[in-house]
Amino acid sequence: MDLPEAPAPAAVELDRDRGLTLRWDDGHVARFTLEELRVNCPCARCREVRERGDRVWPHPGAPAPLRASGAELVGGWGITIRWNDGHDTGIYAWGVLRAWDRARTARTGDPDGPDGPGDA
Ligand SMILES: [Zn+2]
Repeated sequence: MDLPEAPAPAAVELDRDRGLTLRWDDGHVARFTLEELRVNCPCARCREVRERGDRVWPHPGAPAPLRASGAELVGGWGITIRWNDGHDTGIYAWGVLRAWDRARTARTGDPDGPDGPGDA
């Protein structure tokens, strides 16, 4: 396993029209938009698409707007999201999500992410 280690969040909230919010016991909150999650889908197929230089989303025939039709926790280490185009093979490990959040905070200086109160 080459995934960064991270504890499971204490709370996981999926807003099927907007995005995913994770809260950890240490008070850290990470928010991700649906598009951000979909575009960075970690499954092998989407990774291949990105390596080709193509866009994972939107793809030809993709439903709009993007929605999550469901989600399932995977063991203690991540979450899988089912998208409204039927795609559901990506597993978003907690460590990966936390690393994305850290990278974004370093980039934008906004710890709340794109949907945070700082952007209102
Ligand atoms: Zn994928």
